[in-house]
Amino acid sequence: MQYQVLLYYKYVKIEDPETFKEEHLNVCKEIGLKGRILVAEEGINGTVSGTIEQTEQYMNHMKADERFADTVFKIDRVNEHAFKKMKVRVRPELVHLSLEDDVNPNEVTGKHLSPKEWMEALEDDDVVILDARNTYEYDLGHFKNAIRPDIETFRELPKWVKENFTQFKDKKVLTYCTGGIRCEKFSGFLVKEGFKDVSQLEGGIISYGYDEETKGKLWDGKCYVFDERISVSVNRSGDETVVGKCCHCGNSEERYVKCGNPECNAHLLMCEECEKEHKRSCSKECMGHPWNRYVKEQELLKG
Ligand SMILES: [Zn+2]
Ligand SMILES: [Zn+2]
Repeated sequence: MQYQVLLYYKYVKIEDPETFKEEHLNVCKEIGLKGRILVAEEGINGTVSGTIEQTEQYMNHMKADERFADTVFKIDRVNEHAFKKMKVRVRPELVHLSLEDDVNPNEVTGKHLSPKEWMEALEDDDVVILDARNTYEYDLGHFKNAIRPDIETFRELPKWVKENFTQFKDKKVLTYCTGGIRCEKFSGFLVKEGFKDVSQLEGGIISYGYDEETKGKLWDGKCYVFDERISVSVNRSGDETVVGKCCHCGNSEERYVKCGNPECNAHLLMCEECEKEHKRSCSKECMGHPWNRYVKEQELLKG
């Protein structure tokens, strides 16, 4: 059976997120979707999977609501559900930048570049490319020459910019994320901080990878995604190189594990040999942790 994964967001006022959430969850369950949807007063953000029919039904439902009528759905064909359950959650914000004065992307945001415009901008020498994602996402794959902010979560990004990136205020800055939602806010933040020429990749890396003209050109490695697939391919142009490296031995590796210590849970690129040797852990402490999941799994296997 053919399935589809939908990735989408819409920044638009939702008056009563709690009520909306209850109703929306019922609709999704009736349709038979699985996935994760966030609802906030500032809008909606979701990744859901279902059969082609189910996902079409959902998109029609969304488009019938004038608030979401122009939502762009990024659609990926897959062979099975990308989630185990259907969850809808209410959050204070869709993406959290930890700002006192939060950015409303409907008021201030960077220029939107289509995939083709983005590719042309990348080819220009006089640009600064800034990845707006976390290190574990960057390390699996990124645009060639992109700067890697040293951050574990999105909310650390403004502080990182203030300490490491202000010298580029007069440059043409290109910023991107997985599906575009983080950059809507983040590029607005850069504009507010006084960056003069800020552009963002419309629809994010996912849209860029599907684009027929760009074919994902100038992207290296894979794109980290927040569902059971863990990563998806982007570059279909033939100029791709693997950039992921095992965190222990340094060999090429695109396989992600979570640190065996459930209290650490760090995202780690790790080869199978190193997983055995280091008990799937990032450090000696995690390796020796009494709850180490890898050790528990091995004990179970032995019976
Ligand atoms: Zn290794
Ligand atoms: Zn660890």
